[in-house]
Amino acid sequence: IGCNSNKETSLSLDEIKTSKSLSIDQKVEALLSKMTLEEKVGQMNQYNGFWDVTGPAPTEGEAEKKYEHLRKGYVGSMINVKGVKDVMAVQKIAVEETRLGIPLIIGFDLIHGYKTVSPIPLAEAASWDLEAIEHSAKIAAAEAAASGINWTFAPMVDISRDARWGRVMEGAGEDPFLGAKIGVARVNGFQGKDLSDPNTIAACAKHFAGYGFAESGKDYNTVDVGTSTLHNVILPPFKAVSDAGIKTFMNSFNELNGIPATGNSFFQRDILKNEWDFDGFIVSDWGSVAEMIPHGYAKDGKEAAKLAVNSGSDMDMESYLYVAHLVNLVNEGAVKESDIDDAVKRILKVKFELGLFDDPYKYCNQQREKVVIGSKEANDAVLDMAKKSIVLLKNENNLLPLKKEGQKIAVIGALASDKSSPLGNWRLAADQNTAVSLLEGLEQYPNNTITFSKGADLVLEEASFPMEVKINTSDTSGFAQAINVAKSADVVILALGEHGMQSGEGRSRANLDLPGVQQQLLEAVYKVNKNIVLVLQTGRPLAIEWADNHIPAIINAWHLGTQSGNAIAQVLYGDYNPSGKLPMTFPRNVNQVPIYYNYKNTGRPNLPGPNLVFWSHYTDQTNLPLYPFGYGLSYTNFDYKNLVVDNTYAIDQTVKVTLQVTNTGQVKGKEVVQLYLRDLFASVTRPVRELKGFELVELEPNQTKTITFTLSNDQLGFYDNNGKFKVENGDFEVFVGGSSLANLSKAFKL
Ligand code: BGC
Repeated sequence: IGCNSNKETSLSLDEIKTSKSLSIDQKVEALLSKMTLEEKVGQMNQYNGFWDVTGPAPTEGEAEKKYEHLRKGYVGSMINVKGVKDVMAVQKIAVEETRLGIPLIIGFDLIHGYKTVSPIPLAEAASWDLEAIEHSAKIAAAEAAASGINWTFAPMVDISRDARWGRVMEGAGEDPFLGAKIGVARVNGFQGKDLSDPNTIAACAKHFAGYGFAESGKDYNTVDVGTSTLHNVILPPFKAVSDAGIKTFMNSFNELNGIPATGNSFFQRDILKNEWDFDGFIVSDWGSVAEMIPHGYAKDGKEAAKLAVNSGSDMDMESYLYVAHLVNLVNEGAVKESDIDDAVKRILKVKFELGLFDDPYKYCNQQREKVVIGSKEANDAVLDMAKKSIVLLKNENNLLPLKKEGQKIAVIGALASDKSSPLGNWRLAADQNTAVSLLEGLEQYPNNTITFSKGADLVLEEASFPMEVKINTSDTSGFAQAINVAKSADVVILALGEHGMQSGEGRSRANLDLPGVQQQLLEAVYKVNKNIVLVLQTGRPLAIEWADNHIPAIINAWHLGTQSGNAIAQVLYGDYNPSGKLPMTFPRNVNQVPIYYNYKNTGRPNLPGPNLVFWSHYTDQTNLPLYPFGYGLSYTNFDYKNLVVDNTYAIDQTVKVTLQVTNTGQVKGKEVVQLYLRDLFASVTRPVRELKGFELVELEPNQTKTITFTLSNDQLGFYDNNGKFKVENGDFEVFVGGSSLANLSKAFKL
């Protein structure tokens, strides 16, 4: 029992670990040949490390058992151990006290920055700026790596069309093309060119697959989607990051079409490991192996471990079931040792690639930790990213940018002074209340007079992870003072929206309105002063139809991280011309959800005649969103013209699309030029339009640039219901413009 069936290498452990002549694959094989079955299973076991490992050892319970397992070599990875001191302590046990001295891989949810917090991923996606997003991930990786971390559970590349789902804040929105590009940018930022560089860390694509399609937007809920959506919407960003060389995947809590993702061999083996040739490893989601029991898929823990490993889940995060059952399952013949070997090889390979065998403490340097964390470079990067993430939704009468002098400005709303909420959810390493608040940002412009009045609390008590946020739904006692301040102001800046802890895991909302008494506050202030700039902070699209109908200027500032207030102030004052575009549709009303731009036509898409009801619509609500995907304004205007389609498909299988964009306004600005495609008829119906290209251009006033897009098979085709990619002849239409409502179009044939 416990002996490896492979022939043991004659190389010594040290030779294997540090050899310059063996390839990584050879080292992995050689090391595997020295491992007992228990040690192999240990590599597949990941424990949470929320206890002070440098403090007194726990005397009883789980933690003690974890220590014991760690010492025996039954732990391959730990999560949530942060800071060089603690990482060194656990790594030392793994390296010095276990028989083989295999280092741990230390994972962490580095979702948007580490100590220096960058905008939430959905906000970063609004920049459509792949270089900036890659840089942001690179900076975050460097900070986390300096703290001893070598693996992040990001990027989340789940596409979602449901703003009620709290985790939309962690993704790149509703579109698979944009989502794939952003996913790859993040992977490149985290992993860099050389994973053994101590400033880079391994990335993890999650949650494989379908998690963003939770029914009714409730987190963890059942997913039931058809093959066309699965292959064309859900899977493409995962394929893109796999092709880009991502090192790990995480499976998912949800079931899809009756099979929990953690036990799904179609996803994990057929698609990921076989069809896509992914050679990294798959970690389960937190306890998701055990969750297959309440799902009604596994009878007990032992069966859950069997189903997960047999379907290709290589590492068990916090279910304790692999470590408890896999040895017996192999000995009973229910799990093949070759499958265990395959999983272990994948895990060891990533550890070798990270350079952990050369120097297990390479990520652990307290000097570097001090210099890198919170550096000027990190703060500059998150400020830059924050400015690029802001979306100008409305700007009537050129209320924005604000004048820099002589203005009386009333700042109203609890979020204006909040230094916690802008950090958003998933900021596990950040110090509390370290964001620059909006008020502090505005104070950088000293020639206006600012008067602040909160108006009302947003939350009843500071919302902390992982507790529910309690919203103030009744106390309006501060309204009178706010109204007074608003009355005498030239401009009112109203800071409203969601608390940073209202989105994220387990934080779905049934309503998409301004939480609590904020809508009331907005309307009360509007009665006394109509010169309002609404600054929204949010982790998801909000349904703010009333505001859009009444308020002259609206900017969407998401949760922008450490430099939030500075970024917003620079945009409000025009020191930065906003260029963000929505990566997710804003509905008028929660009842429109799911609402997304790349929907399908029905057989009855349009109004057949006046007063007839028989078409696909609501009788009491327009089909149009409030703000469409891809939408966002600037302080200048852009004009699109001269769209030409040069169809060279017969010659080189590409279609070249050229157009010109001109800045017709008074100031320099950036525009995200977007290209959408429609395949008018196909063997599987296609959406009314799909994003297939975009380019960020910066133009001086009156400057014109010619943009060329080349559409090749990757953009022209689609997946059929068997998951086969196809390009079909037929009629197409291309649309270009500054949002998904782009109306400059040309037809062409393939
Ligand atoms: C989340 C994952 C996360 C993991 C580890 C889970 O609850 O779904 O996205 O990486 O916890 O913190």
